[in-house]
Amino acid sequence: MKDTGMIRSLDSLGRIVIPSEIRGTRNIEIGDSLEFFVTDDGMLVMRKYKSTECAFCRTLDSVIYYKDQFVCASCLQQLKHAPAVPVQQSPAIEESSSKKRIRVSDMLPRLEQALIDHPEASQSEIAQMLGISQSRVSQLKKQLKYKA
Ligand SMILES: [Zn+2]
Repeated sequence: MKDTGMIRSLDSLGRIVIPSEIRGTRNIEIGDSLEFFVTDDGMLVMRKYKSTECAFCRTLDSVIYYKDQFVCASCLQQLKHAPAVPVQQSPAIEESSSKKRIRVSDMLPRLEQALIDHPEASQSEIAQMLGISQSRVSQLKKQLKYKA
């Protein structure tokens, strides 16, 4: 149990104001009902009252309690047969990462051409021309040799 540090006095009619911060975080609105509990060690606990009607159709017949909600048997049956809406996974992430890394098969001929066009260029100059790292150039060069 957490101490909110908030203290309120009862007025002359025995009423108490629930601090708006608590109403906000507990989702309690004006007009809502609250229910009181007394714990074994004498604490008074207050909770937003949830009626036992079905959260979907408001019936009170054959209602079960599930994950903080009341659901009637008929709505439960409908839920079971409701088509599951798949969460669409955006392909954007996959695409961008595959685009970033240019395939070796695309890069090899470009490197070959760069080496022919600039035979005097250093490995770092070649890397700059192709927009890849120096280590990538040396890797690709090895593949070129292997191919040749
Ligand atoms: Zn229902």
